[in-house]
Amino acid sequence: MFSKILIANRGEIACRVAATARRLGVRTVAVYSDADAHARHVSLCDEAVRLGPAPARDSYLRGERIVEIARALGAEAIHPGYGFLSENEEFAEACAKAGIAFIGPPPAAIRAMGSKSEAKALMEQARVPLVPGYHGAAQDPALLQRESDRIGYPVLIKASAGGGGKGMRVVREPGEFAAALASCQREAAASFGDDRVLVEKYLERPRHIEIQVFCDAHGGAVYLFERDCSVQRRHQKVLEEAPAPGMTPERRRAMGEAAVAAARAVGYVGAGTVEFIATSDINTSAGHFFFMEMNTRLQVEHPVTEMITGHDLVEWQLRVACGEALPATQEQLQIHGHAIEARIYAENPDKGFLPAIGTLTHMALPAAVEFQRNADGAAFHDPAPVRIDAGVRAGDAISPHYDPMIAKLIVWGATREQALARMRGALAETHIVGLANNVDFLGRLVANHSFAIAHLDTGLIERERAALFAPEDRLPNEFLALACARVLADEAAAVGADPWSGRNGWRLNGSYTRELTFKSERGVHDVRIEYARDGYRFDHGGLCSPLVIQPVPAGAAPSRLSLRLADRLLQADVVRAVDPVGDELHVFLNGRHCVLTRIDVIAHAGEADTVEGRLSAPMPGKVVAVHAARGVRVARGAALLVMEAMKMEHTIVAPADGTVDEILFGVGEQVAEGAALVQFTPAA
Ligand code: ADP
Ligand code: ADP
Ligand code: MG
Repeated sequence: MFSKILIANRGEIACRVAATARRLGVRTVAVYSDADAHARHVSLCDEAVRLGPAPARDSYLRGERIVEIARALGAEAIHPGYGFLSENEEFAEACAKAGIAFIGPPPAAIRAMGSKSEAKALMEQARVPLVPGYHGAAQDPALLQRESDRIGYPVLIKASAGGGGKGMRVVREPGEFAAALASCQREAAASFGDDRVLVEKYLERPRHIEIQVFCDAHGGAVYLFERDCSVQRRHQKVLEEAPAPGMTPERRRAMGEAAVAAARAVGYVGAGTVEFIATSDINTSAGHFFFMEMNTRLQVEHPVTEMITGHDLVEWQLRVACGEALPATQEQLQIHGHAIEARIYAENPDKGFLPAIGTLTHMALPAAVEFQRNADGAAFHDPAPVRIDAGVRAGDAISPHYDPMIAKLIVWGATREQALARMRGALAETHIVGLANNVDFLGRLVANHSFAIAHLDTGLIERERAALFAPEDRLPNEFLALACARVLADEAAAVGADPWSGRNGWRLNGSYTRELTFKSERGVHDVRIEYARDGYRFDHGGLCSPLVIQPVPAGAAPSRLSLRLADRLLQADVVRAVDPVGDELHVFLNGRHCVLTRIDVIAHAGEADTVEGRLSAPMPGKVVAVHAARGVRVARGAALLVMEAMKMEHTIVAPADGTVDEILFGVGEQVAEGAALVQFTPAA
């Protein structure tokens, strides 16, 4: 085994690789950009070296520098993770030249699978089934149009060099082809520096089923079964599970053997994934599956395979890279139970899943284990039911420079049903405050009937749109009561005594009523709280009932609240995020996250002088609109300027009533992160 490796990546995958290395007694070197100087992956490795500024091309994509660091620090191997340099054949070659093992396939195999078109040509020779299509070298638009007319519509145009769903265009009619081609080529050139395309028959409502393969340098090759990654948005995975529901043993073997044949055809060594697209009747003998592409690296969703096989795939990668034979034969590999992974992203499902950025001001995750296995690796032990692979901690930021994934939540169950129930529970315990995220959406997705009965295809999210994005008509009183309870409990704590605890024998003589006002997505809510003789009473939306704040068990999180409202006992977490612009109460109850902004008219009256006179850019981006001008008086919350960054618009609003002194940038101008945008004087 190696004694020291360098991990040429960041985030959750760098942390995950470090965990296995530590278990195996392998020392680790982290590399980091300026944005990641205090990142979790840096703290988990034994040594760490700075690469450069935040942008990937100045840091994580600096292959030569990374090889130099590995040599200087005596690392014998480099693990590239996924993304970045993981599928870069020049980097794999540079490692070899420097006498460092690249923990991945040989450069020739990366090259062979690097172009989807060339890979398909190779697979044709290896008799792996292909989606009908055109993957030739000639790229004349007229020829491409003729080819798609021949294939028959709808067709899918893909970037040959593609990845991450970029550039793909569905064409439903011949007349749309030319425009779609041009747009795919533009995006491909911009994303991959290569505008070559291929055309495929577009399958309606297919399933994405992929096979994990592993090969060693001695001719050994196995498949570690399949993963179903059909639940996607924008052609990118959201939920992944193993095994694929409904797979027959015969089909599993056929797909596994096809995947191994694909790997053998390119002289593969190490971990790889062969992605297939399957017709939705794949569970019957009438179904078909077709090769889509091979990813020559460890995949984001590899944990579900680890959970059902009991093997640590990173350990396998390390063993294979230092010349050992595969740790298990095909006959020894078995499927045990069911595993599901949910990708937690900083993104806004209600705004077309646009990526978001920000600081994770609060992050509570379910009790889980980090990846761990017994040292023998081969024997199966029931995995812990919940595993979390995260690259961030509370207080860390999701920046615009890298992938907006926050964490992966992986659950195991003896059956799919049990795994699903555990996933629902785990998501309900995942509380994130500070940036837009998809946790609530994932909760609705795993609770969705179609998903529960495994009616899976890549159109699931669109097909279930009405159920998944359904706006709730009314905000349940429980959420408002919990928000009130947090405000009341905080006030009592600030005074140092709760008038109702009876500790100091203090009682009000009469009763009085105050109003607490909150704003939610559903409007403004005025709640009346009565301080009665025997405690608080809650009055809103037709419910008038005692509200009793109960003690929480010692050791509970500070956000925990236990509340009696009418005949219900509510246990929930309410996180309060107070900043100069607002007092937000994040109520997490039964898997739903509701944000209530408190509008406190009296408290805000004297507060204007505490806000800063300048408003700055939350991230690097471009100004796309200016809504205010110098000298204009505006009310608190008025839109002053709109920026665009990470494909998303961000509105800069007035932090208080006041006057705009200066707008410092105009439409079309680029601004750096933290740049002052507006000078503003709050009203006296
Ligand atoms: P997987 O099939 O492993 O889920 P994804 O397509 O989701 O793969 O991508 C895995 C990672 O690789 C993500 O972090 C993504 O941002 C990154 N990635 C995917 N394609 C590319 C590419 N062409 N260039 C750079 N990074 C990529
Ligand atoms: P990427 O390199 O971006 O991962 P893939 O070729 O793996 O590109 O395709 C990504 C996704 O696009 C698939 O998981 C599937 O949902 C969809 N897709 C790809 N090819 C087809 C096809 N021929 N018909 C229908 N959907 C497809
Ligand atoms: Mg793919």
